Amino acid sequence: KRQRRERLLGLLERTAAFYVRVLWESPEAADARAYLASRGLDEGALRAYRVGFAPEAWDRVVVGSRRAGYSEAELLAAGLGQRSSRGTLIDRFHGRITFPLADERGRVLGFGARAMKPDQKPKYLNTSEGELFHKGRIVYGADLARAAAAKAGRVVLVEGYTDVIALHQAGVPEVVAQMGTALTDAQVDAIARLAPKALFCQDPDRAGQESVAKGIAALRVHNKGRTTRAVEFRIVRLPAGQDPADVVQQSGGDALRALLEKAVAIEKFEVERALASPDASTDEMLATVAPIIAPMSASILKDELVALVAGRLGMGENLVNEALRQPFTAA
Ligand code: ATP
Ligand code: MN
Ligand code: MN
Ligand code: MN
Repeated sequence: KRQRRERLLGLLERTAAFYVRVLWESPEAADARAYLASRGLDEGALRAYRVGFAPEAWDRVVVGSRRAGYSEAELLAAGLGQRSSRGTLIDRFHGRITFPLADERGRVLGFGARAMKPDQKPKYLNTSEGELFHKGRIVYGADLARAAAAKAGRVVLVEGYTDVIALHQAGVPEVVAQMGTALTDAQVDAIARLAPKALFCQDPDRAGQESVAKGIAALRVHNKGRTTRAVEFRIVRLPAGQDPADVVQQSGGDALRALLEKAVAIEKFEVERALASPDASTDEMLATVAPIIAPMSASILKDELVALVAGRLGMGENLVNEALRQPFTAA
């Protein structure tokens, strides 16, 4: 059993190395190299994350691996091969940029693979769930972020592989990504092992905001009643229409780092969101912010939030404080 696992890990490892070689050395990857350069991603950062290219051909990985002594069953178990309609074994990835998905120790368990052309669907194709690969257990970039996160005392959580690489390149090596939208318990635990503080830096679109909301919920569950390894988290707000990689490319690493420093505490993020709701009445807004502010222990942040609510609702701070003392019912 253990030996089988080691063989599958070896197969994934040599495939990652093969894709990297194709990307940097093969004429068939010229478009991929140009595409990555057009995204502002440089060779050093791409090599650090072992980004590669899966050739268009049907069976380069299958043929190479079989020649190296791996069986068809092993190729299937590793998620690298699939049956064609004619029943022959072919590669899973074709004409895609490959991002190895590794565990916390850097062992490759699968791949995320990005389409190069708009008509190639889906945009990202992952290794299918299998013996080794479970997407919900992977925090992308955790192996490379570990030392930097320990040193910085924080980890930055982005959505995508390209965001991780762009931030790494922009001087923020303590960066990781979740895989898809909802943060799993296993991913929260992995993040808590990296650093005591997390900055949510998700895409400023609907999917990203839903991901923040779910992430907040998952982290609250994690933190509940916990005295060790609680995670303090903050929210980074990005300009409309730009994900972290776009900010780095369009405005530079300094601009992105400045946005990280302006991250707001979760309570402030939620209070501001409640106050920005366009058609809520004063009472409704108070009912929404009360359960956020009332349980907070006295702090500068709490005072700031009371002042924010008072200013927005045109009430005195005393009145707001009094309203917060009333027993509140969830809106
Ligand atoms: P790019 O900038 O290259 O378009 P992105 O990272 O900004 O990529 P998003 O659409 O924001 O792409 O998606 C964020 C992340 O969600 C991706 O990096 C990938 O991990 C995951 N993802 C997106 N689409 C899919 C999909 N169809 N299948 C699996 N995972 C996906
Ligand atoms: Mn997104
Ligand atoms: Mn992007
Ligand atoms: Mn994105």
